[in-house]
Amino acid sequence: MNDVELVLRSTRVITPEGTRAASVAVADGRITAVLPYDSGVPAGARLEDFGDDVLLPGLVDTHVHVNDPGRTEWEGFWTATRAAAAGGITTLVDMPLNSLPPTTTVDHLRTKREVAAAKAHIDVGFWGGALPDNVKDLRPLHDAGVFGFKAFLSPSGVDEFPELDREQLDRSMAEIAGFGGLLIVHAEDPRHLASAPQQGGPKYADFLASRPRGAEDAAIMTLIEQARRHGARVHVLHLSSSDALPLIAEARRDGVRITVETCPHYLTLTAEEVPDGAGEFKCCPPIREAANQDLLWQALADGTIDCVVTDHSPSTADLKTDDFATAWGGISGLQLSLPAVWTEARKRGHDLEDVVRWMSTRTAQLVGLDGRKGAIAVGRDADFAVLAPDETFTVDPAALQHRNPVTAYAGRTLYGVVRSTWLRGERVVADGEFTDPKGRLLTRPS
Ligand SMILES: [Zn+2]
Repeated sequence: MNDVELVLRSTRVITPEGTRAASVAVADGRITAVLPYDSGVPAGARLEDFGDDVLLPGLVDTHVHVNDPGRTEWEGFWTATRAAAAGGITTLVDMPLNSLPPTTTVDHLRTKREVAAAKAHIDVGFWGGALPDNVKDLRPLHDAGVFGFKAFLSPSGVDEFPELDREQLDRSMAEIAGFGGLLIVHAEDPRHLASAPQQGGPKYADFLASRPRGAEDAAIMTLIEQARRHGARVHVLHLSSSDALPLIAEARRDGVRITVETCPHYLTLTAEEVPDGAGEFKCCPPIREAANQDLLWQALADGTIDCVVTDHSPSTADLKTDDFATAWGGISGLQLSLPAVWTEARKRGHDLEDVVRWMSTRTAQLVGLDGRKGAIAVGRDADFAVLAPDETFTVDPAALQHRNPVTAYAGRTLYGVVRSTWLRGERVVADGEFTDPKGRLLTRPS
């Protein structure tokens, strides 16, 4: 047992047993004890006292598109991990597409890891991709440490990452279930999308009509049916349609191994308030009506939705055009996910423990990192965010750390200022000042 090097103290520490005044002892980058607030500080240890600011476990964001290498003008590991750190996120898992190459072979994974290694300000893991023609690559990618496999059921938006048809999904799922892997799915049904009115143009109502809830519901039904047949573990990405919630709840009651995430933009922005022509709000599936949003919150409260992740998917500003049909689909929200969700959560009567459960504990569980991340508990990595939950700020896109100053949250006033973020016992950012990158590359614990 190594000597305690650091003690972090706050009157409000969020632990799995609740929020309390505590002192958290750290040695060798791990939490060695959670002690009473006024415990003595061991000789040689440094004390950091945050007073009434909240000490919470660093967030684990399992849905981020870093786009590096290949589309680094959209985003990159340097900028994305700085934005994440500034927002209280200490672990991210990178999506397999929008970078060139996509993470669909072990060689490509190696390339991605080499690029990320020197630029990561927080810990970074990788998802693999399931394509129509890479079934043979899935097992090697699993063995190389990816956390699971992403598949699309409708076009992904980039040519090098084609979607799976029903048969291909069936084949990939059988393979992944065979080695006990996790399949994560962008669930919109292509036939439903094809039969929806495709107006194009700047009117948000037309865009919303072009990506109906039914497309999500149908794709999720397919996924449930196949997961049931294969006994596979599947995860629904970025759920927007509240109509799918009863299907998911019922499948789970029947023993289907299905989990589901939603995103800050579905929980905090509504279709009614998206201005026409405002491409920064375009994402797929789309931001839906306020009544739909209320049901997503209800599902978070009752546990039907497991977790909240950003789906940070930026592009250059010129691709966020005023035509919703052709604008790049993706919301830039990495640095703002915690304050955005917290602002709405507090309004709806939730506390920070709920937010931590949705954005840290359950996401760590999803990717099997819950032995190391996702809670302030003995043995876990000393990853923390220090948050002033009652302080507000107004979002200025130019002040954010991600590469292109575009965000759907521009001008909003949000609760929750992240004062500092800590990775394995080292402060990696405080008040906008960063250290050199200290992030590590993570592999799936076997
Ligand atoms: Zn995504």
